[in-house]
Amino acid sequence: MNRDCQMVWDSCLRTIKKNVNPQSYKTWFEPIRPVLLDGNVLTIQVPNKFFYEWLEEHFVQLLKTSVRQELGDKGRLVYHIPEGTNNASTPAAPPRPSNRPSADKDNEPVPGVFDAEQIKNPFIIPGIKRFKIDSQLNTNYTFDSFIEGDCNKLARNAGVAIAKNPGKTAFNPLVIFGDVGLGKTHLAQAIGNEVARRFESKAVLYVSAEKFTNQIIQAIKNNAVNDFVNFYNMVDVLIIDDIQFLSGKQKTQEIFFHIFNQLHQSGRQIILTSDRAPKNLEGIEDRLISRFKWGLSADLQAPDLETRMAILDTKLREEKVELSADVLEFICYNIQNNVRELEGVMVSLLAQATLIERNIDLELAKEVIRSFVKTLTKEITIDFIKQTVADHYNIGKEKLDQETRKRSFVIARQLAMHLCKKMTSKSLKTIGESFGGRDHSTVIYSCRAVQDMMDTDMAFKDTVAELEKKIRMSLND
Ligand code: ADP
Ligand code: MG
Repeated sequence: MNRDCQMVWDSCLRTIKKNVNPQSYKTWFEPIRPVLLDGNVLTIQVPNKFFYEWLEEHFVQLLKTSVRQELGDKGRLVYHIPEGTNNASTPAAPPRPSNRPSADKDNEPVPGVFDAEQIKNPFIIPGIKRFKIDSQLNTNYTFDSFIEGDCNKLARNAGVAIAKNPGKTAFNPLVIFGDVGLGKTHLAQAIGNEVARRFESKAVLYVSAEKFTNQIIQAIKNNAVNDFVNFYNMVDVLIIDDIQFLSGKQKTQEIFFHIFNQLHQSGRQIILTSDRAPKNLEGIEDRLISRFKWGLSADLQAPDLETRMAILDTKLREEKVELSADVLEFICYNIQNNVRELEGVMVSLLAQATLIERNIDLELAKEVIRSFVKTLTKEITIDFIKQTVADHYNIGKEKLDQETRKRSFVIARQLAMHLCKKMTSKSLKTIGESFGGRDHSTVIYSCRAVQDMMDTDMAFKDTVAELEKKIRMSLND
């Protein structure tokens, strides 16, 4: 060690001492040893990885400032973690260079920095000599684009808390479970992306259980299981998607069990998704299932109408497409249990509209939805219309067939006929017969009467529109 190095560090310490309380100083700064001063880069040795992470998390600004004070604006700090000195909180994890704020000077050996070529890992980025884990995340999956609703509140909030403090909340592991298409992958990746955004130095890794399994098969084949395990032990936030896939895969489960234990013990974050609750996972070892239950299992439910509308609205905005509120509501009303399907409808709708140069109106929406939802092909029946109108006026449906001339009954009857004419393909004759055996001219007369009333009475017009919508929207019931 050269003298300058010690002097520079001593000066830094004087600045630091003025800015932290004595206890913190004693705990976190006295154990540090300066080891090398190379130009404007000062290398300090810290006892272990945990120590390093703590410094980075709590004192990074102070360290930066004090180093720059001594070495100028370009002054930088590099941490050295002695090999084989990981303490109890980081059992076997090798030191991780991706964590060191020394990303430049790639080809120079830096003390204690791990060389990528020493380890075979499945995600190495070619061309980068210094080890860096490619997170495999899709950056489109963010919290911003993950709409909150009652259906996902717990899972989403837990995710936000984890992203702020990975590995340090009670939610470890976090198991997100729920049916297909409800946003498990999106949410799990949103956590990963947010961690990556907040903590540049943390290694995040997203992997599907299927890929994970295939990697293990390869590792076994190549006699490289240890490398595989070591690689995974370097990850700070491990996301494994669709763990139900591990079912029945004994060897994979065994290796995963070890990785899980290592990561969990050293305070790294584990996030898993599954198509069912951990307790219902079949073909997975009990010891794994019991660990899945250590943290939080949060389910995603099918979103309610309002949430579906908010989701679709957001997606449309992203695509810069405008849709009338009516059509939006219609789509969301009919696509009830799956967000992926909702997106499917949207994509088809956009495609249709562009291909045949048609506006996206209710008719087009209906056509498209028909191809997604079988039940929609259900015809609107005269009986259904009569029931809806009778319910609205709070009268018995049979009143629409009777001879009574009581004004409210007459209006209800005429309105029901008008809607039958407009919304079904039935003939005037059939419609007339369905209203207590009236003839077709009565239906014509009724339709005119309703039109007149609509022209003169706004409230009535609204009622007609409301009923019409209700009938359309109820197609799926
Ligand atoms: P899963 O993994 O549960 O099968 P995904 O995460 O793949 O579901 O979600 C399916 C689609 O629905 C994705 O495109 C996702 O962006 C979208 N999605 C699901 N839930 C939401 C939500 N709450 N807000 C916005 N988009 C969502
Ligand atoms: Mg998924």
